[in-house]
Amino acid sequence: GGQPEWWVCRHWTHVFFYRMRSGEARTDMSKKMLSFVTTGKETPSKREADVRVEDFGEIYDEFDKDVAETQASRCSQCGVPFCQINCPLHNNIPDWLMLTAEGRMEEAYKLSAQTNNMPEICGRICPQDRLCEGSCVIEKGFESVTIGAVEKHITETAFENGWVQPPQPVAERSESVGIIGAGPAGLAAADMLRQQGYQVTIYDRYDRVGGLLIYGIPGFKLEKHVVERRHKLLVDGGVTFQLNVNIGTDRSFEDVRAAHDAVLIATGVYKARDISVPGVGLGGVVPALDYLTASNRKSLGDDVAAFESGELNAEGRNVVVVGGGDTAMDCVRTAIRQNAKSVSCLYRRDRANMPGSQREVANAEEEGVVFKWLSAPQAFLGDNRVRAVQAQKIHLGQPDATGRQVPQIIDGSAHEIEADLVIKALGFDPEDLPQMFDAPALQVSKWGTISIDWQTMMTSLPGVFAAGDIVRGASLVVWGVRDGRDAADAIHSYIMAQSEAPQAAVAGA
Ligand code: FAD
Ligand code: SF4
Ligand code: SF4
Repeated sequence: GGQPEWWVCRHWTHVFFYRMRSGEARTDMSKKMLSFVTTGKETPSKREADVRVEDFGEIYDEFDKDVAETQASRCSQCGVPFCQINCPLHNNIPDWLMLTAEGRMEEAYKLSAQTNNMPEICGRICPQDRLCEGSCVIEKGFESVTIGAVEKHITETAFENGWVQPPQPVAERSESVGIIGAGPAGLAAADMLRQQGYQVTIYDRYDRVGGLLIYGIPGFKLEKHVVERRHKLLVDGGVTFQLNVNIGTDRSFEDVRAAHDAVLIATGVYKARDISVPGVGLGGVVPALDYLTASNRKSLGDDVAAFESGELNAEGRNVVVVGGGDTAMDCVRTAIRQNAKSVSCLYRRDRANMPGSQREVANAEEEGVVFKWLSAPQAFLGDNRVRAVQAQKIHLGQPDATGRQVPQIIDGSAHEIEADLVIKALGFDPEDLPQMFDAPALQVSKWGTISIDWQTMMTSLPGVFAAGDIVRGASLVVWGVRDGRDAADAIHSYIMAQSEAPQAAVAGA
């Protein structure tokens, strides 16, 4: 026949697709695919900067069907797809691109959903230039395939058509798993475990589900209804959520352990790194996540006292954000949308050496943010409230042991930047979990992240697993999903082994 045939060999979370095509099918494929030679790269259109800064809606439009099909058809169907190798989930990109190009959207969706529990979210906010698209072989000379935008299009089409269903257990199982943390790692694990039939309870200290997806990442990158939609699917699929429950204070960790056959810690990293310069305690010098959370809560319709009082609101203020990562980019662009008087970003290295995504820097510049590269704060000036940042210029010296050039202060370069709101976006470290959980035997690394055996995803405590930022340190959503899936796989193996152990003992007796 003329249609490709598919063999699906499924080792639970790891899916390998073996494809065999007839000669006719190959001819068919070549007609649809490899159009990169004649068709240029298109990215989804972006709302004009002066329009998009008026609200917190996403800035990128969606591909329509025709553009998605055409862009997907640019893929050269590599024998060794580097895009797939460099996607943390090893998504089967060439195959879902081909199915999209052929208009076979339901199949494309099913394939995409096999390896990713939230493709529409990753399609929106993965730094594709550093992952799948950055490794696309046609990038040299022809510009990469727009993989992320097609991935988003596939799942949005699936939602529109009702193809996205809650997790459906193969059969109910009696064993239960407790998950601490409703961020991407916890949600991905819950989805996978529920499909296996486990009774899953997620505990979160927040009042909403999503972790940094809901309260960290602003709506202009990821609209909140997209996160709430995933929450609802899990509820409909039988996952239980216990919100406003801080494990360690409202309920003990030991209690959670006793209530479940296995526990997954997916608590993320929340201790803001600080900066030790004079004036850091002044009013108006605030941590990034407090600022972003207030803004996100406001967008979600909450009453936020610190926003109304002006403490966490940039309106009418001269804002200086210190830092050069994703969080800093989200802060500067949030401040622009809150009608700040001026917004500048102070970063001690140069543009090429910043950790944040270049795409987000370009977006911020378009929106009116001023970047002060190679600058670092020396002091925050003011009486009670900050009125200026004293900054100094930096020169990048010789590389250190890690290969990064060491920032060196240029003598006599001190200058003042007017500021009545300073946002510190210098990264995050883990909280002291062994202490918070009253579990001194829970081993952590020298950075405070939880140590796990990467083969079994298990911590030093039997039956306790860990995933996401709390293991890796501040990372990416897609790595959270990957770890959550791996942890679910490991928990399944663990519970199976536990339930088989007594029988094996009896059989051997
Ligand atoms: P989290 O998302 O942090 O979720 C942890 C959850 O655990 C939270 O809901 C928290 O309330 C809960 N919790 C913690 N302790 C307890 C406790 N004791 N009891 C109960 N609940 C608890 N990544 C990208 O890929 N793209 C981006 O564009 C991007 N932008 C970002 C922007 C910002 C501002 C930030 C801060 C991060 C960004 N990231 C981005 C990183 C990404 O959000 C994280 O890597 C990811 O969310 C980690 O997932 P997680 O599930 O490990 O943890
Ligand atoms: Fe690319 Fe992220 Fe999607 Fe993987 S999950 S294909 S890295 S956008
Ligand atoms: Fe297609 Fe690029 Fe992946 Fe090759 S690397 S399979 S061209 S998306």
